[in-house]
Amino acid sequence: MQNIKSYGHFISGDFQAPSSNEYIESINPSEQSVVARVAKGSTQDVEHAIGASKSANKKWANMRPQERGRILINVGRKLRENIKLLSELESKEMGMPLQAASMALDTAATYFEYYGGLAPALHGETIPVGPGQHSYTILEPYGVVGVITPWNAPLNQSARSIAPALAAGNCVVHKPSEYTSLTALLFAQMAVEAGLPKDVWNVVTGLGVDVGDSLVRHPQVSKVAFTGSVKTGQAIGAIAAQKIMPVTLELGGKSPNIVFEDADLGAALMGVLMGFSANSGQVCLAGTRVLIQRSIYDEFSKKLAATASFISVGLDKPFPSLGPIANKEQYEKILGYFDVAKEDGATLLAGGEKATVKGSEKGFYLKPTIYGDVNNNMRIAREEIFGPVGVLIPFEDEKEAIAIANDTEYGLAAGIWTKDLSRAHRVASQIDAGQIYVNYYLDTGVEHPVGGYKKSGIGREKGMGALKQYTQSKNITIKLV
Ligand code: NAD
Repeated sequence: MQNIKSYGHFISGDFQAPSSNEYIESINPSEQSVVARVAKGSTQDVEHAIGASKSANKKWANMRPQERGRILINVGRKLRENIKLLSELESKEMGMPLQAASMALDTAATYFEYYGGLAPALHGETIPVGPGQHSYTILEPYGVVGVITPWNAPLNQSARSIAPALAAGNCVVHKPSEYTSLTALLFAQMAVEAGLPKDVWNVVTGLGVDVGDSLVRHPQVSKVAFTGSVKTGQAIGAIAAQKIMPVTLELGGKSPNIVFEDADLGAALMGVLMGFSANSGQVCLAGTRVLIQRSIYDEFSKKLAATASFISVGLDKPFPSLGPIANKEQYEKILGYFDVAKEDGATLLAGGEKATVKGSEKGFYLKPTIYGDVNNNMRIAREEIFGPVGVLIPFEDEKEAIAIANDTEYGLAAGIWTKDLSRAHRVASQIDAGQIYVNYYLDTGVEHPVGGYKKSGIGREKGMGALKQYTQSKNITIKLV
């Protein structure tokens, strides 16, 4: 019988058993086998982790930023050294094909290197107020920051918030998704081996309603960075409002990917396909509403449907390929949307059914799915499906494309395909979304800000700007006599 390992929380540089002594099984979505057991945390465990982080807080905040940055760069390096091990685990736990998992972890390492490098460059400013006063600002960390992350790109999304939070001098108590906690626990341990002082980053695993909720409510948590669904974001936002606590909310999307008749249609074809099917569509930024100019609609949609059948399905297939949907709940939710599409009256052009992978017949695999003849009022055009599903919506002209693109409660990203750069600028400036891609889709760089307009969120992650969001500015003005 297979020996399944159980992992406690990672607190004070060591694994610690949960106070309840209860564990959650982490399930491999390709085989439905148990990968590991992780602690089912409680309010008591959160209390313990925050107390421990608080004790490390002053020393970390007061460390010379250059030194802090050097440690974080070493943490990034440690991740790089262990990419093979961690991407294999992430692939098992989440279902991301191995090659894609390795690319996602490469970016996770880059977050630590990037923000480690920026740590000494973070500073306040002097403000000219005339000869009678000397006025300046300093940027202070919040103290203990709660980081709550989803399952769709586990370490990548965690690193995106944890690296800038630490670089700015905060300690972090991290709650990874209950579906995918393993790599966060192991990487936190590696970070300590790479020189990160213990308690600067503690990990408490468990359910959102227990651990996540307790973390957000705790009076000694002074900021929360959350990545996940709108529903949870609203619950966290409501608690934050009561505490008057700043939050970064990185939430869902239903992003438009607009193809104009003058685009390089070959490039657009692959860009559109990858835009909604990469990571089996479990990407917040996915371009799931494909807006196609009417004059090329028939030809483009036919080619898109034909190209979709070339995307391979299976964990060991080279990029681009589709892994299984990460968990049973999400898999069933997507299958439910196949029924919704029928009720909506959309035309199925590709997929719309389970995919069978030899040797992994029990896996939660789906074929890349495309619906044509969609109008923007259908549920499949309005709700985030979070699966490999693209819906095709025709439009007449630029004005209508912009109107449809903005007719959504979300505003995370958008794609524009055109050879006319004036049009690209014109359309980009009128779309209500935090990130716009022109003639490509989906950016994995760490340098440019990402975040939502409307219900897609509050605040920005990535880039220089995110670092400042993990600090609070203090102005000091001295009267000169
Ligand atoms: P989710 O909201 O269900 O869970 C996210 C995290 O929040 C998990 O760790 C969960 O345990 C925790 N949580 C759940 N309830 C909580 C509560 N009441 N209080 C505190 N924490 C709680 O989201 P998910 O299903 O894990 O992830 C999918 C969603 O995440 C999608 O909507 C997707 O668009 C979004 N997402 C957004 C981004 C982005 O950058 N904007 C990135 C990735 C995923």
